[in-house]
Amino acid sequence: MNGRILAVELVNSMWYDHLGKRSEDRLDRPDRLGRFLSDWSVSVSPDERGIESLKTLRALLREMLDRTTAGEPVADDQLARLNAYMAGSPRTPDLVRSGDGYELAYTPAAADWEAFLAEAALSFADLLADRRIGRVKICRNSVCKWVFYDETKNGRRQWCSSDTCGNVARVRRHRDKH
Ligand SMILES: [Zn+2]
Repeated sequence: MNGRILAVELVNSMWYDHLGKRSEDRLDRPDRLGRFLSDWSVSVSPDERGIESLKTLRALLREMLDRTTAGEPVADDQLARLNAYMAGSPRTPDLVRSGDGYELAYTPAAADWEAFLAEAALSFADLLADRRIGRVKICRNSVCKWVFYDETKNGRRQWCSSDTCGNVARVRRHRDKH
């Protein structure tokens, strides 16, 4: 799977460096927010309350990931909260051609901020529903917290990047031995 996943990118908008020294909420930075929204073809500009709802959704997704990455099912109240985001904006199923087959596309009834929140929630719901959630991992470097979709064949990827976090771990192992 080579697509970008909105839910994953939303969670990563709360950014931490790999050394546990710096963090930054990129939804608070107008330039970063602007890029994020244009990446996802969002044409409405959110007000402060809109950003707050997006942050609440982001926190919910992170909580759910804490469970799924520990091999636990998500809680009923988490499901209810996720469903509430999807219920906030109705969608119509559209059957469209895809290659030599078909796929269902869920078109939002309105192109407003609620529709974007619903889309982000839906992208997480999709991962749970078709069992791809096990491929969504949190970097093993606990201070890094970066979330990624493991596309490797064996599904054993542990680090966000072997150059940063993987390397920090290698250096640490090396140091412990001497
Ligand atoms: Zn990492």
